[in-house]
Amino acid sequence: MMTFPQKILFLNPPSVKPVFRDCYCSGFTKGTFNVHPFDLQVQSGFFSPEIFEIEFIDAVFEKLSFEKTIYKIKSFSPDIILSLVGGLFLEKDAFFLNYLTNEIPLSRLFISGDIARFKPQKIFNYIPCAEGVLMDFATSALVDYLNGKKSPYLITKKSNQKSNLLEIKSYKYPLPREEFIHKNSYLLPFFHDPKYYSIGTSYGCPYTCHYCNTHLLGFRLRPIEDIISELHFAAKMGYKSLYIRAATFMADKTRSVRLFEEWKKSRLKFEWICFSRPDLLSEELVAKASQTGCSLMMLGVESFDEKWLNKMNRPMSLKTTFHAFHLLKKYRIKSAAQIMLGMHNQSKGMLEYEKKLLSFLNKLDPDYVSFNVFSYRPGIEDNGHYFDNIALNDLSYKKMAHRLEKSFYFHPRNIIKQLYHIKSPKKVFLLINTIIKLLKS
Ligand code: SF4
Repeated sequence: MMTFPQKILFLNPPSVKPVFRDCYCSGFTKGTFNVHPFDLQVQSGFFSPEIFEIEFIDAVFEKLSFEKTIYKIKSFSPDIILSLVGGLFLEKDAFFLNYLTNEIPLSRLFISGDIARFKPQKIFNYIPCAEGVLMDFATSALVDYLNGKKSPYLITKKSNQKSNLLEIKSYKYPLPREEFIHKNSYLLPFFHDPKYYSIGTSYGCPYTCHYCNTHLLGFRLRPIEDIISELHFAAKMGYKSLYIRAATFMADKTRSVRLFEEWKKSRLKFEWICFSRPDLLSEELVAKASQTGCSLMMLGVESFDEKWLNKMNRPMSLKTTFHAFHLLKKYRIKSAAQIMLGMHNQSKGMLEYEKKLLSFLNKLDPDYVSFNVFSYRPGIEDNGHYFDNIALNDLSYKKMAHRLEKSFYFHPRNIIKQLYHIKSPKKVFLLINTIIKLLKS
C-alpha cells in the first residue's frame, strides 16, 4: 500500500537528436517543431493533486543532456515514474532508463509508447526494472494499479501473458493537471499566436489501412461535453491556438456537426488545425469548421493510384480527393496533403511514377505537401508482403522524397502563394519546414 503524498514524474527521456514518442508513434523531428507528449498530458489528469505531487520533464523539449536529466530527476526524487519509450530508439531509451533506475532504485518505473503498446514483452526484456507497461494512455489503469486494483490496461512482468484488452466504449479522460500544462510553452509557427494547446477528440481510428497501426488501437469518441469543458479550460489559461490530436478528425459526421454546434454556442474562439481524410469532408462540415476557426487541415492523400489505395484497404476515388481540396479552398482553410511514396503499380517504373505524382499534385494544388516513405510501425509487421518492393527501394524513395519536396516548394507558383500569405521569406521557410515535420509525424 502506498503512503501519501506520492511524487510522480512524467518523463519524455533525453535524446541527442530531437524525437517524438507519443500517441503510439515515434520518429525524428527537427528545429522548432514541438508537440506536447500527449500521452503524458492525458495521464496527468488521472493523478489528483491531493494525493500526487507531479513533475513533468520533457528532456527533448528542454534540450537536456543525459546527465542533466538524471540530475533533475534525482532532485525531484520521484516515487513513481511514467516514461515514454519510442520503438525507433528502444535501445537508447532502455539504456537511459536502466541507468536511471540504478541511480534511484526505490522509484517505480512504468512505460508507455508505441513499442510498449504493441510489444510489451520487449520492454521487460530491454528494461528489466520496469514494473509495468501502460497499454492505453486514456485509462486510469496506472493510478488504479498503484491503489492496489487490477486493470487489463496495466501489464506487469507477471501478468504479461497474452493480454486480453477489453473493448472500451468511450474516450474519457479528466482535465490535465495545470502544472503540467504550464511547465513548457510548445510553439507552432503557423498559428497567429504560436503558443498552442493540444486537445483530444478521438482515440485510434475506425479505418483499417494496411500500412498504418492506428486502427489496431480500436476507435473511441470523446464525449462532446468533455471536449467543450476542455476548450473552456484552455481558453481560461489564455490559449488562442489549438492542435486537435485525433488521427481522423470528423470520422463521425453527425457527431462532428453536433460538436461544431456546441462549440459555436460556447462562443470560444480559437485558431485550430487537425488531421483528417478527404472522404470525410462534406461542405457542411468544412463550413462549420471554418466558422469555428479552422485554419489548416492535413489530409491523408497517400496516392493518385486508386487501385493501389484499394489494395491498401483505403478505397478513395480521385474525385473525392479533388472535391475535399476544392472545399478547403472555398472556405479559405489551408490544405496539406500527405503522400506515401511507393504506393503505385510498381511495374510502371519509378521515373514515370514521379512524373505522374508531380502532375497530380499540380492539379490538386495543396498549400503544403509531405512525402513520406513507408516504414514498419510496431504492430503491422505481418503486413510485410505488401511493402516488399517499397522496402527494397527504400533509398531511392527517400531520394525521390527530397527531389519532390524541392520541386514542389520551389515551384514559382508555390513561392508566390506562400509569400502572399506570409510576406517574409524566412517565416515561409520555417512554416513549410514545420508543416512537413508535422505531417511526417
Ligand atoms: S492511415 Fe489514417 S485512416 Fe488509415 S488507419 Fe491510419 S489513421 Fe486511420
